[in-house]
Amino acid sequence: MIGVTILGATGSIGISTLEVMKRHGARFRPVALTANSQVERLFQLCIEHRPEYAVMGEEDAAQRLRERLRSVAVDIEVLSGTEGLKRVATLEQTDCVMAAIVGAAGLEPTLAAARAGKRILLANKEALVMSGRIFMDAVRQGGAELLPVDSEHNAIFQCMPDGFSGLAGSGVTGILLTASGGPFRDTPLERFADITPEQACAHPNWEMGRKISVDSATMMNKGLEVIEACWLFDAAPEQIRVVLHPQSVIHSLVQYSDGSVLAQLGNPDMRTPIAHALAWPARIDSGVAPLDLVEVARLDFGEPDLARFPCLRLAYQAAGAGGTCPAILNAANEVAVAAFLERRLRFDAIAPLVEETMQRVSSRPADSLEAVLQDDTRAREVAMQLIGRHDGLR
Ligand code: NAD
Ligand code: MG
Repeated sequence: MIGVTILGATGSIGISTLEVMKRHGARFRPVALTANSQVERLFQLCIEHRPEYAVMGEEDAAQRLRERLRSVAVDIEVLSGTEGLKRVATLEQTDCVMAAIVGAAGLEPTLAAARAGKRILLANKEALVMSGRIFMDAVRQGGAELLPVDSEHNAIFQCMPDGFSGLAGSGVTGILLTASGGPFRDTPLERFADITPEQACAHPNWEMGRKISVDSATMMNKGLEVIEACWLFDAAPEQIRVVLHPQSVIHSLVQYSDGSVLAQLGNPDMRTPIAHALAWPARIDSGVAPLDLVEVARLDFGEPDLARFPCLRLAYQAAGAGGTCPAILNAANEVAVAAFLERRLRFDAIAPLVEETMQRVSSRPADSLEAVLQDDTRAREVAMQLIGRHDGLR
């Protein structure tokens, strides 16, 4: 039995992971499930899946979960906070950690799992964007196994040769990262100022958490994915080309020096990359319907418009600058998206806010976790001040 800890079990990826695991109850066993604040939701998951441990973001929420579990006489150890997350990510009986917390909060427990040599199924792209070098070093030094769950990166991984040893060593000349373009790829630009959180969270092809849905609408998600791909596949930003592909059937492609281009296709459903990463190198049923190409009928491709999607340009800029610049970009974006979701910032003010934060907070080499976390904090402070000051942004 493979022991699995799910960081972010109540989220979109967490729930899909539990669904896939449940289909293969003889193969996978939930060791720990974690949530930030939703006590009742995690309680229900604990009753259904019976992990050994549960972790809540804060101690008072953990206390409430303990009482709920005691009231039905279910014995599950409940921990709290970053220390609790790190503990369940590194338990001896945890073979595999699904890193599905959204945002910077996922960094420390995922890093702990890397240092402890676990198999890491990485959905939490923000962790890698913030501290790519430190994270990849921890994976190597800890003897961990890193499998991408983000659908594009999982597709790229599947299209790379066994024993991949860097792009050049494998005859790879480039990576094509596909992007749906989100809900606003055809919306007139003058309407961007009025876009609401509900509209931004209604993605045409994927059902996801609110933060990544907004990132998909601004295409910051694709920008973060460019940075993620640079670290996962040891590529330079200019070796990664973003291609618009509105159907989300081709999840990404790898180009080889002989002219071959390999792609991974499937219905847009995260259970496919989750099942792939859980069972790799084996293949298991994910519950996803088989792809019917005749029904899909056509696949379209286009060039992303950087005037429409300035966040993509900013992410390429951060990838090129390196050091703590991607962490600053990510922190400013997290603040901007949260403010947009709370209706304190206009949709078309997200990119200017990120850009101004990048101009005001100078980056430096990302040679320690402290440096990364300090610049993350500085960028959050600056972004919040800018939201408070600039009336024009609202
Ligand atoms: P979500 O919002 O649905 O779920 C987030 C989870 O993280 C929840 O369980 C929540 O309780 C937990 N969480 C949030 N803040 C926390 C904090 N401060 N401390 C501890 N736990 C916290 O998000 P999601 O859509 O499942 O996405 C999760 C991650 O996976 C993100 O990094 C996202 O970019 C990535 N991802 C998601 C998808 C998708 O289809 N949903 C696809 C690719 C990558
Ligand atoms: Mg993706």
